[in-house]
Amino acid sequence: MDKRIGFIGAGQMAEALARAFIAQGVCRADQIFATDVVGERKEVFRSFNTKPVDSNAEVVKSADVIFIAVKPQYVSVVLREVRPHLEDRHTVVSIAAGDAAGDGVRLVRVMPNTPCLVGETAAAMCLGGKADDSDADLVRRLFEAVGKIYRVDEKLLSAVTGLSGSGPAYVFVMIEALADGGVRAGLPRDIAQQLAAQTVLGSAKMVLETGKHPGALKDMVTSPAGTTIAGVHELEKAGVRAAFINAVYSATQRADELA
Ligand code: NAD
Repeated sequence: MDKRIGFIGAGQMAEALARAFIAQGVCRADQIFATDVVGERKEVFRSFNTKPVDSNAEVVKSADVIFIAVKPQYVSVVLREVRPHLEDRHTVVSIAAGDAAGDGVRLVRVMPNTPCLVGETAAAMCLGGKADDSDADLVRRLFEAVGKIYRVDEKLLSAVTGLSGSGPAYVFVMIEALADGGVRAGLPRDIAQQLAAQTVLGSAKMVLETGKHPGALKDMVTSPAGTTIAGVHELEKAGVRAAFINAVYSATQRADELA
């Protein structure tokens, strides 16, 4: 891609995206510009050959696609600060879990997640301000290089935050707990962790590639009076479904509070 990419806020998510864009060949490291109020974060970006700059305005001058990657409470401050420097060539991508008034700006709100680092992000976007389909196409091209992106109504972005934005943490907890179960049953830790992670990966692939309902896939592997239904019974007794539903719903409400 010939676009230059800028990051205002060079934190964890910005780093994950920048590294992913380079790794997946979206752009070269020297097409990426970043700034942060914390000097150390700029040094992290320098360490993988992107170009740290000294101010938010300089990011806007240097790049065409501007990622606002600060915590939600700082987004409106940053937007106010950079607005005078924005031109029609700029697409602004806010990845913050919160509202961003984008009047007069080509603003695309995206909720990504960190598996972009391994080319498997699950992201959603909506258009704000004066963004149009050309901005949506540009953002889609960027994110399809690092995973999947879906377009949703703006009012659903908090739900996306609660599900896929926060979701990697839920799955990490699940993998850790599955591995603990394997260790409890006598497996060495390293093998238990590999088996747990590969099981999550394979099961997710089956859902995506067969298009079958997860309940149908579960039924296919639970034989009468077998081992698997004994395990599923324990999950149900512990209220695992309600726990996942509550996790997503609670994170969604928190995203709304921060908006
Ligand atoms: P982070 O704290 O690691 O990064 C934010 C960075 O912004 C910090 O380094 C901070 O110093 C910098 N910053 C603060 N004010 C600034 C300013 N005025 N100008 C320039 N830089 C400034 O946070 P993160 O986890 O990278 O999250 C960034 C955004 O991405 C958040 O809004 C979050 O909701 C969203 N997000 C994060 C994840 C995730 O998994 N981490 C997933 C989806 C969305």
